[in-house]
Amino acid sequence: MKLQLSLREYRRQFRQPLHTAHGPWRERRGLLLRLQTSSGYSSYGEIAPLPGFGTETLEAAIALLQPCQHQSFSIDELALLLDNAPIHYSATQFGIGLAITQLQGQFPRPVQTPAPRDICALLPSGAAALAAWPQLWNQGHRTFKWKLGIRGIEPELRLLVQLRRSLPAQAKLRLDANGGLTLATAQQCLQTCDDLHQQGQPIEFLEQPLPPTQLNDLIQLNRAYTTDIALDESVTGLSQLKDCYDKGWRGIFVVKGAIAGHPLAMIEFCRSHDLKVVFSSVFETGLARQAVLAMAQAVYQPRQEIQRSKIAGPAVPPKTPESKVLAMADLPYALGFGVSHWLQPDGLDDQHLPIALNLRGTALWQQLSNC
Ligand code: MG
Repeated sequence: MKLQLSLREYRRQFRQPLHTAHGPWRERRGLLLRLQTSSGYSSYGEIAPLPGFGTETLEAAIALLQPCQHQSFSIDELALLLDNAPIHYSATQFGIGLAITQLQGQFPRPVQTPAPRDICALLPSGAAALAAWPQLWNQGHRTFKWKLGIRGIEPELRLLVQLRRSLPAQAKLRLDANGGLTLATAQQCLQTCDDLHQQGQPIEFLEQPLPPTQLNDLIQLNRAYTTDIALDESVTGLSQLKDCYDKGWRGIFVVKGAIAGHPLAMIEFCRSHDLKVVFSSVFETGLARQAVLAMAQAVYQPRQEIQRSKIAGPAVPPKTPESKVLAMADLPYALGFGVSHWLQPDGLDDQHLPIALNLRGTALWQQLSNC
């Protein structure tokens, strides 16, 4: 089967700059891609690099793929191009992997559309979070994320206590330091979280308190405190995730599916190692986000069945079609997708917009090109 590759670059403005320990972020740029067979079937992918997280740059992805545009090649030739690319081209691995596996009918379909309660909403940093959460709560969100490590630790921890106490008891609050703390300030932060836990106001987890170079300290911290720690910047792609696992990390992994490399390889590893995984957005469009949703559901779907079979004895296939359906509430962590209010709408969130195979015509590609 011969294929043609087309690329479309997109630029989307943040409604307001997003401030993290990496600095302010004003514009999301990425690539949408189409693979088209000679018989007119198409599949789509997205390449949304995040160089601050160790992926290739957008320019590097374009330079790799541009020579393939409007030339005929086979799936094997495209796969070889990816195999020969440096390991950190994980956003390209995802985008091309998604398009190829769709074309081959191997990519899982999302089984359910998440409701706001299944999605963690990102709050603005600093004191603005206090005013921002009620509106998101009213929209149905029950899990929130707040960035820290941006200003001094003392005022941030005072704000953290204030924020946690202002939230309803059943709300979940996760924190993200983007690797911006020192060992001493991480300990201070975790102690505050543990104190809140003692008072019945726990923090769900603290994301990446220290930079990826301090994995041993992260492992020690995860053992020393009640509050869970999640790795994020440490595990950009599957190879880094495997490395952290091999070195003894057994806490939570944040998987930014759209920059994590080949999607099926990531699903397979998470499934087979019983990992605690939070799937998260990288401000990709709805196209890649739907694919990451399908990954999250594919990772936890079989685990539910495996757990049932452990209780019941030998593995038995589910008896009714209903028992195969994973409820969104079965996902152990809310999806880190609550970022759409930060960007102008992309028009790609329509659940009828297919990431499925064998689309004919150019309407969808036109829609992608206009987003
Ligand atoms: Mg993070």
